Amino acid sequence: MKIAIIGAGIGGLAAAFDLRRAGNEVTIFESADYVGGLASGFKEPHWDWSVEKFYHHWFQSDQSILGLIHELGWEDMVHFPRPYTVLLHQGKWYPFDSIWKALLFPGLGFGFIKIRFGCVGLYLRLTNNWKALEKYTADEWMRRWAGSQVYEKMWKPLLVGKFGPYYDKVNMAWMWARLKARSTRLGTFEGGFQRFADMFAQVLREQGVEIRLNAQVKSIHLVAGSGLVIDTGKSEIFERVLVTTSPALLAKLCPDLPDTYLKGLLELKSMGAVVMILSLKRQLSEQGYYWFNLPKEAGYPFLALVEHTNFVPARNFGGDHIVYAGDYLEVGHEYFSMGDEELLARFTPALKKFNPAFERDWVRKVWVFKTNYAQPVPLVNHSQHIPAIKTPIDGLFFASMSQVYPWDRGTNFAVVIGRKAASLMR
Ligand SMILES: Cc1cc2nc3c(=O)[nH]c(=O)nc-3n(C[C@H](O)[C@H](O)[C@H](O)COP(=O)(O)OP(=O)(O)OC[C@H]3O[C@@H](n4cnc5c(N)ncnc54)[C@H](O)[C@@H]3O)c2cc1C
Repeated sequence: MKIAIIGAGIGGLAAAFDLRRAGNEVTIFESADYVGGLASGFKEPHWDWSVEKFYHHWFQSDQSILGLIHELGWEDMVHFPRPYTVLLHQGKWYPFDSIWKALLFPGLGFGFIKIRFGCVGLYLRLTNNWKALEKYTADEWMRRWAGSQVYEKMWKPLLVGKFGPYYDKVNMAWMWARLKARSTRLGTFEGGFQRFADMFAQVLREQGVEIRLNAQVKSIHLVAGSGLVIDTGKSEIFERVLVTTSPALLAKLCPDLPDTYLKGLLELKSMGAVVMILSLKRQLSEQGYYWFNLPKEAGYPFLALVEHTNFVPARNFGGDHIVYAGDYLEVGHEYFSMGDEELLARFTPALKKFNPAFERDWVRKVWVFKTNYAQPVPLVNHSQHIPAIKTPIDGLFFASMSQVYPWDRGTNFAVVIGRKAASLMR
């Protein structure tokens, strides 16, 4: 069969792998001039590794992407260091990335509150009944079962940070999935995620997949009896097409979709993200902390401060210390229209809170990356609103971050949904 895939992100590449092995003629259309999509990275001339544009790591539970890497024979290139995630309490940072660390965290109180916190954590780790949980918002469920103090201190800041105005509308199955599928060890690919994407794309090319970069698809139309016509400036016909973009973009690319499916796509909510990357002359967190969770009400201009080189050694970046300052935001937030210098002026004063010695002249270089589609927002009973992978248009398939629910988006689930779509397309 002649198959087109729109998007060379991890989902599109994973789908191409299976479709090609099944004997199909596969062409990937990618609007950017690189592969990897949201997991892509970039490299300065004096760096050995690339840096992801949006902070990325794997969990030990990410069996689908780790399984794919195993199939490709590259498991020796995956490393799982043990970086430190910390949470703020009364102006001090405390390690907070395991049940044991959480039990010692003073911000949640002790005694009955901690026992209740532990029981709720254990229940969520053990239960598989996420369908029962999706009927409730995380806000109401956590308040009720974990108690207001724990909710306000821990879970509410996480929800507010990730979902902004939707924080009290996100369902409890999202929170369940987050607690279920996480590990304290975090993984990365030797050389960075971009290296993985480039190596994967190279394998696909060697197997006969055509990957066209700078190839933006403008529309997809069904021509009865012929197949699906893809327009990139020139028109080409395919028997099957897999779209791996955002739901909103699919709706725009393919207005022939029936109204109910289109409406379903357009009703899905998501958050965008703005991430600033700074290369510094010196280490910011001298304690060696990797991930700082920042409650919005503490007044930081961003949600997370991530010192990448407290996870991957600075020697891989020519001695530069790499720091991310990022936030999930609604599209239309002022950060989306601010220039890099303006954002830098907004963000840098906060860096002193992580190291009082920080000075503006530590900053060697700054990059800012923005995306409108960073984090799907799963509302109550979300399982009833997920668009089908097989769309109502014959031969047209859709696989995106919005369909991996109840799991949270991630490259692991991009592999899952990409491979699932491939199995439905054969
Ligand atoms: C801030 C942030 C942090 C994250 N952290 C992690 C993490 O720690 N670990 C993890 O595993 N995952 C993380 N993720 C999620 C992960 O990046 C995604 O789940 C995954 O990369 C999605 O892959 P995809 O193939 O589904 O989509 P995408 O990567 O979005 O790929 C879609 C591709 O389609 C292309 N495209 C769009 N329109 C067109 C068009 N018209 N024509 C042709 N091509 C087009 C795009 O350029 C893109 O390359 C994070 C994401 C963000 C935003």
